[in-house]
Amino acid sequence: MKDLKKIKEKIEKLRELIRYHDWRYYVLADPEISDKEYDDLLKELKKLEEKYPQFITSDSPTQRVSGAVLEGFPTVKHRIKMLSLDNTYSIEELKEWEEKIKRMLKRDVKLEYTAELKIDGVSCALLYRDGLLVQGATRGDGERGEDITPNIRTISTIPLRLMGKDFPSRIEVRGEIYMEKEDFKKLNEERKKKGESPFANPRNAASGSLKLLDPRLVKERNLKCFIHSFGWVEGVEFDTHYQFLSKVREWGLRVNPATRCCKDLEEVIQYCKEWQERKDSLEYEVDGVVVKVNSFSLQKELGATLKSPRWAVAYKFPAHQATTTVEDIIFSVGRTGMVTPVAMLKPVECGGVVISRATLHNFDEIERLDVRVKDTVLIERAGEVIPKIVKVIISKRKKGAKKVKVPQACPVCGGKIMKEKEEEVYWFCINPNCPARLKQSLLHFASRAALDIEGLGESVVNELVERKMVKSLVDIYKLTKEDFLRLPLFAEKKADNLYHAIGESKKRSLARFLYGLGIRYVGEKIAQVLAKKFRDIDKFFELKEPDLERIPEIGPMVASSVVKFFSQPQVKEMIEEFKRLGFNLKEEEKIKKNILKGKVFVFTGELEDFTRTQAQKVVEELGGKWSSSVSKNTNYVVVGKNPGSKFEKAKKLGVRMIREEEFKKLLKGEKV
Ligand SMILES: [Zn+2]
Repeated sequence: MKDLKKIKEKIEKLRELIRYHDWRYYVLADPEISDKEYDDLLKELKKLEEKYPQFITSDSPTQRVSGAVLEGFPTVKHRIKMLSLDNTYSIEELKEWEEKIKRMLKRDVKLEYTAELKIDGVSCALLYRDGLLVQGATRGDGERGEDITPNIRTISTIPLRLMGKDFPSRIEVRGEIYMEKEDFKKLNEERKKKGESPFANPRNAASGSLKLLDPRLVKERNLKCFIHSFGWVEGVEFDTHYQFLSKVREWGLRVNPATRCCKDLEEVIQYCKEWQERKDSLEYEVDGVVVKVNSFSLQKELGATLKSPRWAVAYKFPAHQATTTVEDIIFSVGRTGMVTPVAMLKPVECGGVVISRATLHNFDEIERLDVRVKDTVLIERAGEVIPKIVKVIISKRKKGAKKVKVPQACPVCGGKIMKEKEEEVYWFCINPNCPARLKQSLLHFASRAALDIEGLGESVVNELVERKMVKSLVDIYKLTKEDFLRLPLFAEKKADNLYHAIGESKKRSLARFLYGLGIRYVGEKIAQVLAKKFRDIDKFFELKEPDLERIPEIGPMVASSVVKFFSQPQVKEMIEEFKRLGFNLKEEEKIKKNILKGKVFVFTGELEDFTRTQAQKVVEELGGKWSSSVSKNTNYVVVGKNPGSKFEKAKKLGVRMIREEEFKKLLKGEKV
């Protein structure tokens, strides 16, 4: 007796839970559990009610089609109930389904099927009268839906008028409205920019879009529709479902092109397996296959339960969602140095694979999801992609769930990390020798526009790093010919060539070297500007942002990146080592070396940018001469502030007098 009371309580609890999830799914378009988990709850309830039928009530979720009518749109009653489909989760269950219907038919009949992709979208019913679209409604609770005709009319894949002449006087077709993955991505990006919360998946986006009260906004969402069945029809009869689909296609309605007529269940199974593999190549999301008995007379014979037709079933692709808890959030560093937060999960099975980690993409994603250590989360796995966290089940959040902060340093090397751009969400480790990004660093360093080391390509770099023969950029200059001979596919000549190519690369210009360091935002052009301006690698260690921002080609982002890069102690050490290995790291302007050859300069007055000695030294460096007194042999008298008697003398002798500006131009090799 006491046990029965407990069972009744359990049944009531289950119903309450299912209703809650119905509300999340249908009203909020924001489910908390996976479809599989939902179905399991329903199955459990069904089982209990079968065992204890005295507890079945008319309002139990098992006694009606799940769902609720939305507010804000007029309600329409569906003339024929929009049923939902029973789900199967394995080939075995699919076979059981066929056995069941064969038993019901009580005779050995050859069953032909149609197999259609189950589009992950929103069901709709479209009423055409004399070929004109007169009403579009959502499924709602299956009996009553919402009249969203104005929104439906904005969907371009739904014809407002049927084509041809042989369409029935009245037909209510049914289909699935969905959003393509690409449109979904764009929409979410726009929403993020506007500070609106992104949709969890394309289905929610489609559902949310159809609920908009302004049809113009709906149109912008670029929703699409596939027709898959009809509710009722007047004046036309079809023999098979496949015939119906071919016919409506002629009338201009859109039917999924992957739909197939299968002569037996074996072919259906093939179809299911095939699309399980291929589904990710589609522009839209599908979560399974809908299998229907093809013959309408057999369909009629089989009939329906209160909830779903017996002649159709959904084969769901292996469940790709599951709930679990976050045990920790760690940070991994990719080969470009990108720091990505990763959620370490309590291992859970998801689509036949045990999942123990999920990517969080970036730090804004952590913020958006508000995911914390110890949280219960809904995870999703699409194809072979690393699973992601769809959402946090806030209602299950425990006290003490910890927020996660952006780390202060690279978790691999302890070096500085930096944001891509202020408004961007990605962080990078900027240490070129960080083990996580060393391979990339080496390849970039050796690339043609940088140190141009021929023969130091991907396979060699991989070997060198994996064998731990190279742990930083400088290490490649310590390798011997014998070291290379230890690598696979290296013979005498190849080893010799690479060894020499590496040695040769020490002679590259400062600009190429700077570019090769892989400093964020320092491309070839910026590297040239920097080398030309500062000329000596040692100068870079003293630079402050304003020194750089003064240069027209350089913005604050580059400036900050350069300063941060050279402020790393390990970079300072590395540069010293490069020098010890014979790198010059000074910009020598060979071409300009003799631009002042044969010219004699005399200085008078104070210059702004040079002391007298500096000016004289520069002239010497560029092959010119200087004198302290003006004579016939003087080519230029450089006149500064408060010039002395030399000014008068130059005037008398007719020697060319130039200002500091012109002097600087001469130094650059320009004409004055
Ligand atoms: Zn690092």
